[in-house]
Amino acid sequence: MDSFNFRFCKKCLTRDMIDKDAYFRTLQELIDNISEAVKTQKDEYESRLSKCTECERLADGMCRACGCYVELRAAKKSNKCPYELW
Ligand code: SF4
Repeated sequence: MDSFNFRFCKKCLTRDMIDKDAYFRTLQELIDNISEAVKTQKDEYESRLSKCTECERLADGMCRACGCYVELRAAKKSNKCPYELW
């Protein structure tokens, strides 16, 4: 049984939040500085994030299944969605 059956404001992805603080800027810098050798291709990255934004487990940019910020998790091509959605 899925324990994530309640709904609340998800605030979309961290990059879409209005009040970005230094923490989230650092998160984006981490993503930007991932080596091209391990970085997910842009099309695949956007596809992954699209699935996350439709997922009930996304909350404030974080996956409630694994605890990762999805933008960072999706940015490495070897990473997988814990629910195999990407
Ligand atoms: S990583 Fe998977 S389970 Fe987590 S928010 Fe994205 S699609 Fe949902």
